[in-house]
Amino acid sequence: MSPGPGPSNKDPSNIPMSELHHLTLAQLAAGLRARQFSSVEVTRHFLTRIERLNPQLNALITVTGERALAAAQAADRKLASGGAPTLTGLPLVHKDIFCTDGVLTTCASRMLSNFVAPYDATVVERLSQAGVISLGKANMDEFAMGSSNETSYYGPVRNPWDLKKVPGGSSGGSAAAVAARIAPAATGTDTGGSIRQPAALTSLTGLKPTYGRVSRFGIVAFASSLDQAGTLTYTAEDAALLMQAMAGFDPRDSTSVDEPVPDYSAALHQPLAGLKIGLLREFFERGLDEATAKLVRDALKVYESLGAKLIDVSLPNLPLSVPTYYVVAPAECSSNLSRFDGVRFGYRCENPVDLTDLYKRSRGEGFGAEVKRRIMTGTYVLSAGYYDAYYLRAQKVRRLITDDFARAFAGVDVLMGPTSPTPAFDIGAKVDDPITMYLNDIYTIGANLAGLPAMSIPCGFLGGLPVGLQIIGAHFAEAKLLNVAHAYQCESEWHTRMPRGYE
Ligand code: GLN
Repeated sequence: MSPGPGPSNKDPSNIPMSELHHLTLAQLAAGLRARQFSSVEVTRHFLTRIERLNPQLNALITVTGERALAAAQAADRKLASGGAPTLTGLPLVHKDIFCTDGVLTTCASRMLSNFVAPYDATVVERLSQAGVISLGKANMDEFAMGSSNETSYYGPVRNPWDLKKVPGGSSGGSAAAVAARIAPAATGTDTGGSIRQPAALTSLTGLKPTYGRVSRFGIVAFASSLDQAGTLTYTAEDAALLMQAMAGFDPRDSTSVDEPVPDYSAALHQPLAGLKIGLLREFFERGLDEATAKLVRDALKVYESLGAKLIDVSLPNLPLSVPTYYVVAPAECSSNLSRFDGVRFGYRCENPVDLTDLYKRSRGEGFGAEVKRRIMTGTYVLSAGYYDAYYLRAQKVRRLITDDFARAFAGVDVLMGPTSPTPAFDIGAKVDDPITMYLNDIYTIGANLAGLPAMSIPCGFLGGLPVGLQIIGAHFAEAKLLNVAHAYQCESEWHTRMPRGYE
């Protein structure tokens, strides 16, 4: 393997042991194979950084140091005997929405603050079978509901680019951990933008695959028709490595798709000449910060210089994606979260007087304000009198949005635009204004409603804060997305920058 561009411009084969966090997964994998360092050394390096830096970031809820070191020893034995899979001995962190056998899985909720999962999610199982080592579980918005990581029962996560700013959400702990180099990669989930938006706000490469590409088995359900697991990494090359292990049919998830998994790493190096890029007119029209728009346009120029053609595309129903999502997602969440009743597992109130009291107080005390808001909205839009007016109508608009995308992909290979309307905002700035908070997802939600794969890659900085370029593909076009993202990363250096104090 010849690792491509990394988060450091230094020669990876000559990196001092104190700077192992400057390497990408691909570079770490090459170093492990070349016996430049061992998996125990890499794992210990990141655990030391976690100990030192996590308190100021609050990026991790649980750290599994002992387990990680035991797994690293096993990985070193496998590496020594030869033939070990590519990812052997590489550490990462999992968003705390993935069930992990024998390890606390909280979903950042008081409701699950005592829940030790009895099995691994398929994503966790596949990555560990591929040799990946889990360092711990990342903080997130409660039940993945949020865009700023402020709804966590465990407190807000801080953005390493500016500790006063949010890292985005809901996979904000995953993003902050990777951006601060306390883990070289992380898993996340994306229901309405929760991988791409935090990736944009922390200068990472975030990939949300096609709905059905990666198994949802063992992921605590938020909105089942939208949820999808993906990756937060420094580079598209690293995302390709993780996706190779994560993707594929799983009989335990009835919505997982039985399609062959292409060789993602092999697809990275295709030339882009003749690539047709659709520019989403609706994304550039309203609400977009002018300086953000300029950085996105600069990135598009790089693509033009690589031989791509830019084509204006309009998706007339796309502006309806936020209201549509905020009917569909709460509806599904109100149904999914009905399982937390204080009886079967999770939080239970003290001294209930009867069953109704047990239900009411367990849920009342176990869920935070945003989760309750969603459950109430969802219950309302599904209720007998309002189902047709809200839920059914939202489903119809969802179809129109999906059809808009299908028409667009008849004429272009990928769509591009901004990931987030602004760079990271101050902690506390939007937390009391749900509508303003919901509008953060205006550019990301469409891909979830249509089930499409989408990425965010770093494309510049504004006042020291990162900006992301979003790339959306047709169903199952992950290989194309990774290829397009990798080509840009070979021409740019935004993804190599590190936040001050974390170098
Ligand atoms: N921010 C969106 C929400 O609050 C999306 C969350 C997500 O993708 N999990 O629902």
